[in-house]
Amino acid sequence: MENSHLTTLEIDFNAIDFNLSFFKKKLKKNTKILVVVKAFGYGSDAIEIAKHLVSKVDYFAVAYVEEGIALRVAGIKTPILVLHPQKQNLDKLIKYQLEPNIYSISVLNGMIESVEKAGLSSYPIHIKFNTGLNRLGFSEKDINMLHAILKPQKNVTVISVFSHIAASEDLNEREFTLHQINLFNVLYKKLMDELEEIPFKHMLNTSGIINYAKEAQFDMVRLGIGLYGFGNDSIVTPLLKNVVVLKSIISQIHTIKKGDSVGYNRAYVAQKTTKTATIPIGHADGYSRQFGNGIGFVYINNKKAQIVGNVCMDVIMVDVTNINCNEGDEVLVYKNQNHIEELSEAIKTIPYELLTTISQRVRRVLKNC
Ligand SMILES: *Cc1c(COP(=O)(O)O)cnc(C)c1O
Repeated sequence: MENSHLTTLEIDFNAIDFNLSFFKKKLKKNTKILVVVKAFGYGSDAIEIAKHLVSKVDYFAVAYVEEGIALRVAGIKTPILVLHPQKQNLDKLIKYQLEPNIYSISVLNGMIESVEKAGLSSYPIHIKFNTGLNRLGFSEKDINMLHAILKPQKNVTVISVFSHIAASEDLNEREFTLHQINLFNVLYKKLMDELEEIPFKHMLNTSGIINYAKEAQFDMVRLGIGLYGFGNDSIVTPLLKNVVVLKSIISQIHTIKKGDSVGYNRAYVAQKTTKTATIPIGHADGYSRQFGNGIGFVYINNKKAQIVGNVCMDVIMVDVTNINCNEGDEVLVYKNQNHIEELSEAIKTIPYELLTTISQRVRRVLKNC
């Protein structure tokens, strides 16, 4: 049945296109582009984003196998890199022609076994080196073992080698980042010493493209948050177009007297006659409970309205004492990049988390698609 929830996340595809070209302009003409659509396309709509971009990008990436399967089922034929596959679902990964990040010997052995079982050969894999993030990937000591496993077999072919920068947005860490880039080059060469194929290389995420396109552009880049309008940088973000707007409406307005309380645990007690608006979005929609009690704010008729009391599971109440408004009026819960950045800072997190936690209950509305 069609979702008729009045709390919606508008996704502007003109803005997506604009942001993609913004990053393309920073790259050499033949650098491949991978667009990261993990976590529902950073909380937007991975399938619609992928469908929209099929002819404009070279690769998609997701975190988990199931996310890749969802794209394949929707008809996406573009190569899909799975950033964090696990041994338990490699058969499924192969069935849907997804390409694994191979980050450990055990995943490599599992992959060769699964490909053999499927009766295939030269299955494309991507080797990841850990150059300092210490999350996933091989290090120098693994290279002999990689050679020993890869050389005698025909099941898998290394088509790319990659790594991930720990602090690409932080220029205070430039020295560390240059060390990561250098180490990546060294490890790549060592791996190449005994491989027949010549895999392509990639290292840069959004902030990497902004800060290290000269040093580490290689053959492909992996664009994530930048596509969705954030540059992790006060200069770049304003140059990008806003992609998502989280919207709702006023369900009811109350005028309460001095001493009356609002919401669970009576967390807010009015000091004077106060007008409140109730809005159908709560922590179950991904609106953090940390926004309660004046930390978060929404926009109603171009004015800021603070959250009063605790954020409920399904609703918030906001102070509209000084705002001319009526039931049914539009509420901008996340108005634009600036608003999302301010709110993120207020609860000590980053826009990535605000975007990706918008729950699936919120209806997605596609604009300029
Ligand atoms: C998520 C992710 C990206 C994208 O990062 P952004 O900062 O969103 O551009 C790139 N590479 C890897 C390995 C990732 O996990």
